[in-house]
Amino acid sequence: MAQEYDLVILGGGTGGYVAAIRASQLGLKTAVIEKEKLGGTCLHKGCIPSKALLRSAEVFATAKRGEEFGVMAKEVSINFGKVQERKNKIVGQLYQGVQHLMKQGKIDVYKGTGRILGPSIFSPMPGTISVEMNNGEENEIVIPKNVIIATGSRPRTLPGLEPDREFVLTSDEALEMEFLPKSIIILGGGIIGIEWASMLSDFGVDVTVIEYAERIIPTEDKEISREMHRQMKRKGVKIATSAKVLPETLQKGGGVIISAEVKGVQKEFKAEKILVSVGRLANVEGIGLENTEIQVENGCIAVNEYFQTKESHIYAIGDCIGGLQLAHVAAREGIVAVEHIAGQNPSRIDYSLVSKCIYSNPEAASVGFSEDEAKEKGYKVKVGKFSFRAIGKALVFGESDGFVKIVADEETDDILGVHMIGPHVTDMISEAGLARVLDASPWEVAHTIHPHPTLSEAIGEAALAVDGKAIHS
Ligand SMILES: Cc1cc2nc3c(=O)[nH]c(=O)nc-3n(C[C@H](O)[C@H](O)[C@H](O)COP(=O)(O)OP(=O)(O)OC[C@H]3O[C@@H](n4cnc5c(N)ncnc54)[C@H](O)[C@@H]3O)c2cc1C
Repeated sequence: MAQEYDLVILGGGTGGYVAAIRASQLGLKTAVIEKEKLGGTCLHKGCIPSKALLRSAEVFATAKRGEEFGVMAKEVSINFGKVQERKNKIVGQLYQGVQHLMKQGKIDVYKGTGRILGPSIFSPMPGTISVEMNNGEENEIVIPKNVIIATGSRPRTLPGLEPDREFVLTSDEALEMEFLPKSIIILGGGIIGIEWASMLSDFGVDVTVIEYAERIIPTEDKEISREMHRQMKRKGVKIATSAKVLPETLQKGGGVIISAEVKGVQKEFKAEKILVSVGRLANVEGIGLENTEIQVENGCIAVNEYFQTKESHIYAIGDCIGGLQLAHVAAREGIVAVEHIAGQNPSRIDYSLVSKCIYSNPEAASVGFSEDEAKEKGYKVKVGKFSFRAIGKALVFGESDGFVKIVADEETDDILGVHMIGPHVTDMISEAGLARVLDASPWEVAHTIHPHPTLSEAIGEAALAVDGKAIHS
């Protein structure tokens, strides 16, 4: 018999499962339909496994520098099987946690592929969902009052560069590699591409990054891109920018050969494998959108500020609506959508307050406008910058490259953006995020006494530097 619910969520990734927990807290009878594994991309193919590999690479890179710290370890080497084992263990532990949370919230989980049906005998409105069960049992029908589509995204590929598991990979296949290649070409110097470049280079792989834009991590402040470029090159990563890859030149055999037009000149690149990291496509196909009035714009589901689609009882959140495709964004969107469904008055998301992190070595993190963006928006800006070189804790860590940069409005004194590159900045960015939420001025940030010795002193000093008052510069 068809089951009825207050809310059914299509997709149990970060956005979907967090929405389900919030719905259960609010007393909604809730179900999640998941065709692969609860936790989605973030837990199984994204944030967590990639950070586990990055951590192993960082430990290896640090161990090789042991002598600098007076730690004499001979013949440090990588056992990649163990690296993968550790990654899988962490993912497994968290996967159990998510399953437990579903049970605790009394959330029904359907293991299968869901598809939205149009008006039918079950309901005069579109939104009933047919679930093709993974275990081969008969299709289930679920009848929800409300639906949240949280079907996520998948790696974008380029025609002629489809993944084959051997020579051409996306991040999905790269995470499952059994052996490290000797060399790799990474197509795309965005956030995911640079994390891979950093990790593989730290593991000792010969890495070449080919980036179409004129700089790597082009969504970040220019000075952060420049510093990341410098530090990647110092590691030995080769980087070609303003480079348009020519997929039709791909040759596969003992490895790969591919050409790119670099600043107008055709160049050939050779490696054992190629990793295509050129963005992600929203999963909007095969989920029955054609049975609804829901609109798809630029490949993503169109929604309003409360994540309602054209069918006001069907919401969409996370990677499938485009924008900032990040796990913490998907989670918050899920919470806002559920609270709206429950008749609460959730505050809308201000995307300029979302922190973005790059977990490479060095790390980078930012919140708010870059210096150029702020200027383009017509702000008269003042900038404070402080290097980790003058921060005791950074020297103690043996990682003193990088800086904190604060962009502020000269007229109102509001902080417009904070940009960091260096040790542990992904853990430090939340202070800047809070400062933005509270509309803090650089003075207020500097007035917060930062404990000594900590890396966070760089934030206090950068805030002082906005008005030329940094102490240690
Ligand atoms: C390599 C990599 C590293 C990343 N690192 C970070 C990071 O460090 N920090 C960060 O914030 N973000 C990171 N991301 C992005 C992050 O993973 C996504 O933004 C996040 O997972 C989006 O959550 P979501 O719920 O929208 O979608 P997903 O997590 O993709 O979940 C969607 C779920 O829907 C299921 N599904 C799809 N269609 C159906 C259907 N018809 N029926 C049933 N189920 C269906 C899928 O199986 C999937 O489980 C990374 C991504 C990648 C690829």
